[in-house]
Amino acid sequence: MTQSYRITLLPGDGIGPEIMAVAVAVLKQIGQQLNLRWEFTEALIGGAAIDATSEPLPAETLEACRNSDSVLLAAIGGYKWDNLPRHQRPETGLLGLRAGLGLFANLRPATIFPQLIDASSLKREVVEGVDIMVVRELTGGVYFGQPKGIFTTETGQKRGVNTMAYTEAEIDRIGKVAFETAQKRSGKLCSVDKANVLDVSQLWRDRITQMALTYPDIELSHLYVDNAAMQLLRAPKQFDTIVTGNLFGDILSDAAAMLTGSIGMLPSASLGENGPGVFEPVHGSAPDIAGQDKANPLAQVLSAAMMLRYGLNQPQAADRIEQAVLKVLEQGDRTGDIMSPGMNQLGCKAMGKALIEVLSHG
Ligand code: NAD
Repeated sequence: MTQSYRITLLPGDGIGPEIMAVAVAVLKQIGQQLNLRWEFTEALIGGAAIDATSEPLPAETLEACRNSDSVLLAAIGGYKWDNLPRHQRPETGLLGLRAGLGLFANLRPATIFPQLIDASSLKREVVEGVDIMVVRELTGGVYFGQPKGIFTTETGQKRGVNTMAYTEAEIDRIGKVAFETAQKRSGKLCSVDKANVLDVSQLWRDRITQMALTYPDIELSHLYVDNAAMQLLRAPKQFDTIVTGNLFGDILSDAAAMLTGSIGMLPSASLGENGPGVFEPVHGSAPDIAGQDKANPLAQVLSAAMMLRYGLNQPQAADRIEQAVLKVLEQGDRTGDIMSPGMNQLGCKAMGKALIEVLSHG
């Protein structure tokens, strides 16, 4: 029986449209092979949306996303929009999308591909076999807490304020995602906070500790964020699943990403309680290489695989895509960002063709 899915595509800015085209071609190919039918709707976000409508997240875009089974996003932003007021910045569109869809859980895998191990800036023996999942809280914490803003004090000084706040319910729901993710992996969960200094972190630690009683199969540990940053670089293999708040997760997931050597290889998933998730590469819109057919489309393609696995419950299709990515790497195909001597350097489009070729023989 053919399964049909409504997918909203948000190509965004910079290299976004180039890498999205590759992911769509891969989805079409896998769809033909596994009887999956796609109804794609393309919508505007970020700088492209600002140019067309003067808003980074037009109401029609959010509506289209809400009415779909999943959202595949590429990247937003660029020099052109960097100096606009904050409410008009591309990033505001991204934050609005996350909030509008209630995407409170961000899953960011950092997995070392054996073929790319030498791309890591750390020693082979430190990173070989690294397979980490960072579960980051996405709609709370200091990025959203009130009060926020730049105010003028009684003495006429400007004062910038943000508030880091979490309710028990917010901690519990991200905790649940994290414990369940750890259950699907090796059963190890490390919760990261700053409970030695921050009250909000003490509440975080208390709740996560309490929740662990209902997950006796999970080995829970806690680390302060400064130590977690050091440990990630010193001995990353000690980690399996990490759960943390919005700000710490933003920073640690980028650090974990760099263990793998290339930002062009890393997908992510953002999930809500129900409703569509958003699947997107970790990297940005790479304006420095936009329009030059130099972008690595693999993070976008792996984001489509995460969409199949976590958003549409099609693990077989996800497996096939992930295997095709491994296969092209095995045959020596590389974009410039992951190039090493003796390999075949390809552009974005040619990498897409190589993937389709591998998939069509699979
Ligand atoms: P970036 O990730 O866009 O680029 C960092 C470096 O990595 C650049 O040298 C770029 O060429 C390279 N790179 C990134 N993705 C690549 C790919 N797929 N293939 C090959 N090389 C790749 O980060 P940045 O330069 O800090 O930001 C550029 C713009 O992207 C900014 O406007 C920023 O706000 C935005 N941004 C968007 C997102 C998002 O859409 N989620 C995330 C981060 C940054």
